[in-house]
Parts: sequence; C-alpha cells; structure tokens
Amino acid sequence: MKVGIVGTGFVGSTAAFALVMRGIGREVVLVDLDTRRAQAEADDILHGVPFAKPLTVTAGDYEALSGCRVVIIGAGVGQKPGETRLQLLARNAEVFRQVIPSVLRHAPRAVLIIATNPVDIMTHLAAEYARDFDVPSRRVIGSGTMLDTARFRTLLGRHVGIDARHVHAYVVGEHGDSEVLAWSAVRVGAAALPDFARDRGISLGESDREKIDDAVRNAAYRIIEGKSATYYGVASALAYMTNVVLHDQRSLMTVCTPQPRIADVEDVTVSMPHVVGGDGVIGEHHPLQLDEREQEALQASATLIRKLADDLAGEVN
Ligand code: ADP
Repeated sequence: MKVGIVGTGFVGSTAAFALVMRGIGREVVLVDLDTRRAQAEADDILHGVPFAKPLTVTAGDYEALSGCRVVIIGAGVGQKPGETRLQLLARNAEVFRQVIPSVLRHAPRAVLIIATNPVDIMTHLAAEYARDFDVPSRRVIGSGTMLDTARFRTLLGRHVGIDARHVHAYVVGEHGDSEVLAWSAVRVGAAALPDFARDRGISLGESDREKIDDAVRNAAYRIIEGKSATYYGVASALAYMTNVVLHDQRSLMTVCTPQPRIADVEDVTVSMPHVVGGDGVIGEHHPLQLDEREQEALQASATLIRKLADDLAGEVN
C-alpha cells in the first residue's frame, strides 16, 4: 500500500514519520518543490525504520506517486511581510492549481487528504481542480477540525474523569476562529453530558465550559507562540486518516469535503462528522443535533468560508 506526501515541510514530513512509527502503509513517497529537502527528509525518516515498522521511504517526483491509494497534500507557501490573508490564499491557490493536476495525472485513483491551511478553503479548491479529472468530491478530504475535535474530547474526558475514547463530541465548521463546539450533542458513553455531570456531582457551569472552549479554540495560537508552528498533532491526525482510508474503516471523523448545503449555506466546505472509508467520504454528513445558538454559529462559520471562496475567485480572476 503506497502513500504519497506532497509538501514535505513540518507537517508533511512529520506525517511521514507518523506513518513509519505506526506502520501505516508499506511505501511512503515524498514529493516537494524543494527536492533536496524531500530527499533529506526521506533519508532521515528511513533511518528510523529499524526501530519502527518495515516501510520504505523514498523521495521522488510526481511520477513516483503512481499507484498511491492515498496522497497527503501539505504543500503551501508562508505569509510574506505586508501580505493580506487573501493574497496569501491566492498564492496557495496557485500552488494547488499546479499540484492537484500533477498528483492526479499519476495517481488518478488516490484519495487526497488535504492539510494545507486554511484547510477548508484549500480543500474546496482541491476538489474543484480534481473535478477536471473526474474525481468526485468525496475523494478529497480536508483534515478540517480533526484536531479541534480531539482536543475537545480530551479536555471533556479529563473534566469528567473518563477515557476520551468514550466521550463523543464534535467540533464543526471552520478549522479556525469561527469553529463551533457542539456542546449540546456531547455524550459520555450513551449519557447526555449535563445528565452525567449532574448524577456524578461534576461541575458543568458556564465557566467550566468557557475554559474548555478557550483551550480548544486557542490551542494552536498558544503552541505557535511557544514554537512558531504546529505539526505533531495534525500529522498524527493525517496518519490516522490515512489508516482509515487504506483499511476502509468507516470511521466517523470531523473532516471537510464540499457539501451541497450546510446550515442553509450552499456549496460550502467546512467540517462536519463524516463516515470515511476506502473511497473517501461516504454519503452526506452524519446527522448532528445542534441547539439554536450552535446552529446559528455554524451558519455564521459556513457563511464566512463561502464568502472567502467567493472573494478568492474575485482575487484570482
Ligand atoms: P507546514 O508547516 O504547513 O508544513 P512548510 O512551509 O514547512 O509548512 O512546508 C510547506 C512545504 O510545501 C515546503 O516544503 C515547500 O517547499 C512545499 N511547497 C511549496 N510549493 C510547492 C509546490 N508548488 N509543489 C510542491 N511543494 C511545494
């Protein structure tokens, strides 16, 4: 099972490392505009193989992606001084306009996992470029709010004293400031969170919720303040997603892929819970009961991303 990674910066190369450490796939191929970087990362990671799992790790050009079942895309450019968010986005759109066709020419059957930020809009664009190759949107999946959901579940698990794997909770919408923590849908095992908290005498007031909300929403900012980038968390999510696709695991994950309608916003790409299998996202997004306030917040988040897509189309054309 062959996995490609295009863009071997912090996120892409850490994803390759995570694949090797966990033994996901059999062959990993690294591609980057900076071919020396890709080769150096491949060599460095390969030297960890005797201590991990028997994968091969090589660097190559796009032809080397032939036969890949999954290609992770982390390619992108950083913000230049004085550059607006929209100008940066336009340059990243240009990167994708070149990268997506190059990948699909050689790996036409691959599921694309998008990691480049802002991930919602980059996934929207990737799906648009992939459509020219008759690739349905379900095969283009953004890592979206995977990490935000993981943070939410972890903090809730800690708060109620239960293994986070048995806390079912979702962060939906944009992977960013407008994301929505779906408090009203949280379940601990099969119990609604407020019932569980009340029965066990666990405090769950406004200030408890605010603390968790702030820790989830602002986690990336705090990490960036401390080390200028975030990559271990997202790379772990990318390895997990790759495993789900390679083994057709039908896992429920908060990923983004273009949807005809989310919270009354049409043709938009923001995260919702989706079932993911070997050929990408299966069906429409999984039902999620939100209260009125959360529903409004989701609509605002989806509207913001839809507007960004429109603004970008104006900037590029
Ligand atoms: P991150 O922290 O998101 O991984 P980086 O800047 O470390 O960001 O990595 C982005 C990577 O994308 C760099 O290695 C860069 O060379 C690569 N890249 C940029 N443009 C292209 C492109 N057109 N094709 C392939 N790789 C690209």
